[in-house]
Amino acid sequence: MSEWRGEGRSIGAVPTMGALHEGHLSLMDIASRECDRVVATIFVNPLQFAPHEDFDAYPRNLDGDAGLLAARGCDALFAPEKAGLFPPDFSTNISVAGVGENHCAVARPHFFDGVATIVAKLLLILRPDAAVFGEKDFQQLAVIRRLVRDLDIDARILGGPVVREGDGLAMSSRNQYLSAEERAVAPALFRTLKQAGELISAPGAQWPEIRVWARKALVDSGFSSVDYVDLVEAATLEMLDRAGPEARILAAARLGATRLIDNIAVAAARAG
Ligand code: AMP
Repeated sequence: MSEWRGEGRSIGAVPTMGALHEGHLSLMDIASRECDRVVATIFVNPLQFAPHEDFDAYPRNLDGDAGLLAARGCDALFAPEKAGLFPPDFSTNISVAGVGENHCAVARPHFFDGVATIVAKLLLILRPDAAVFGEKDFQQLAVIRRLVRDLDIDARILGGPVVREGDGLAMSSRNQYLSAEERAVAPALFRTLKQAGELISAPGAQWPEIRVWARKALVDSGFSSVDYVDLVEAATLEMLDRAGPEARILAAARLGATRLIDNIAVAAARAG
């Protein structure tokens, strides 16, 4: 990479945990469009998993992933070993207040510290001109934007739109955990978000009632439980009661042992 820098080439990074699908590969396309050279990273980051979560079971397929990346024009793959990134006495933690609180942080209190710490490390190691992250993980993207701004890390952060299956389910490495029955229920998450988006765009609509409706709709569709369905301001992730010009609905719900997240942009409320 220092050779590329010496030649004056711009470098785009796409950090991932592997088990790649079209959602990840769409970020590669954005990086290729924006930069001269693209480096992907694959690292299942232990810092962002709680002890009871699926770190050991998380799907790993390095050879298959390397083939997909090469076919998509990836110029380099950085797939470090855990020991290479974390000495036994590693003791630094980066915590992003505000955008890193609420929503996913309620059920996963250490998750965003783990994300912020590994992303800071990867950006400092690779020193890319740009790094691309998916809007699928909308709160994560907000945390990374804030981290990079607050720590003066010299990389542009780019967001890529959510890539979905034909039935609307947001692509995710964790979708492979779903049984056939759960997979049939899963598209209800996106469907419910879209319906909630239409309801909150109506004149005078108030989020508290629509939130209650959306939570019930998810459970009625077959979700085991709902972690949250929140209407937020897109940049700050502050909770809203009415749709504004940059409103977004974020949600997480569980299907058996699998936790799915999704989000949509909301059109500003129509004038009444
Ligand atoms: P992960 O491997 O799940 O950590 O994801 C790596 C990157 O891919 C993150 O920036 C995610 O937001 C992004 N990503 C994952 N799934 C999707 C998707 N369906 N659409 C767009 N980006 C995605």
